[in-house]
Amino acid sequence: MKKFVNAAIRPTAALLMAACMSAVLAGCSGKEDPRPKYIFYFLGDGMGNSQIAAAESYLSYKQGKFGGEQLFFTTLPCTGFVSTYSADHQVTCSSAAATAFSSGVKTNNGYIGVDPDGRPVRTVSMDLHDEGYKIGIMSSVAVNHATPGAYYGHNLSRRNYYEISMDLPASGYEFFGGLGFLEFYGKAGDKESTSAVLERAGYKVCYGEKEFRDNMDDCGHIILCQDRYRDKSTGDIPLTDSTYVTLAEMLKLNLEYFGDDKPFFIMCEGGEIDSYAHANEVMPMVQAILRFDDAVKVAYDFYLKHPDETLIVVTADHETGGITIGAGFDQSYAPQKWDVLESRRTDGMTAEEKRGFEWENGIGWTTGGHTGAPVPVFATGKGAERFIGRIDNTDIPSKLVGKTSGK
Ligand SMILES: [Zn+2]
Repeated sequence: MKKFVNAAIRPTAALLMAACMSAVLAGCSGKEDPRPKYIFYFLGDGMGNSQIAAAESYLSYKQGKFGGEQLFFTTLPCTGFVSTYSADHQVTCSSAAATAFSSGVKTNNGYIGVDPDGRPVRTVSMDLHDEGYKIGIMSSVAVNHATPGAYYGHNLSRRNYYEISMDLPASGYEFFGGLGFLEFYGKAGDKESTSAVLERAGYKVCYGEKEFRDNMDDCGHIILCQDRYRDKSTGDIPLTDSTYVTLAEMLKLNLEYFGDDKPFFIMCEGGEIDSYAHANEVMPMVQAILRFDDAVKVAYDFYLKHPDETLIVVTADHETGGITIGAGFDQSYAPQKWDVLESRRTDGMTAEEKRGFEWENGIGWTTGGHTGAPVPVFATGKGAERFIGRIDNTDIPSKLVGKTSGK
């Protein structure tokens, strides 16, 4: 009897095994495309764990409590950690990090869109564009800054801003957004304006939301810049000027422009988080993270309409400032720059309240530069599980598109 049962079961188990194997093979053979149709990649420049903790402690402080409040993006269900070192330093710079997560290639600090031997690299956005995806690249800092620049530019120096701008048209990407362009007339100020060159190459350069809306219908390639940077370079740290197109508004305009008929990849950078962390300015940095969080909410609204086809990933390139929660004031942490804090918009907080928030939370800094700590990653949607656990920044492009091997 026992022998009979086993004999009867064996073919069934074999059939089940065969069914499982064919399902696995179907997945591997590409019958089921692992690529999301809509990909949002959010990058908080300089936004490490403690920057996030400082922003969340501020949200709690506003409610009169310690802890408990969260940023929206930290509620995304799949989380992991990203190592950030570059090819030649434990502590990366933004352009080496951006080259890693745009192309999967580690390079030297200061290099952008090239490998350590200076050879141009291909980026995930270039590959997706070739395959019919629309591409949107936007930042709250300049369009030719390190992070956005690494998706289209190739240069041995991230500081060769004019040359990086000149690489933009070859990308053919449909949308760019940012403050404007650094070195608008070249390093010496004697070159043709960046706008003139880009317009001749087929891009419409628009300043402010109205001009963008006036041109978005009959324009295949468009660049949205902040109105106040018309015809000049952007050199200053962006303030929270109410006339600005915020990062969230910029993303909304990009989505309105793209629609949802074609697949797309959008890279959206909160660039000024890093600037304020370099300056060791707590509250402006927290406000920058809140604006970045607002942009993630815009993507999440889109995700809710297309939950099976959308991937949202939120991460950082490195930590900046060595910020900590719990600084001992007899230790060597840098003091707060109270005088600078007074001059920035601080969400209606009085100077007294700002001091109270920072004092009670013991927020301190160890450097005016970057640090080598790993950064967190948060994800939801199609393929989000690929971002769980410890990953390297060079793994990011392949994980975004669901490649099973290679970068
Ligand atoms: Zn930086």
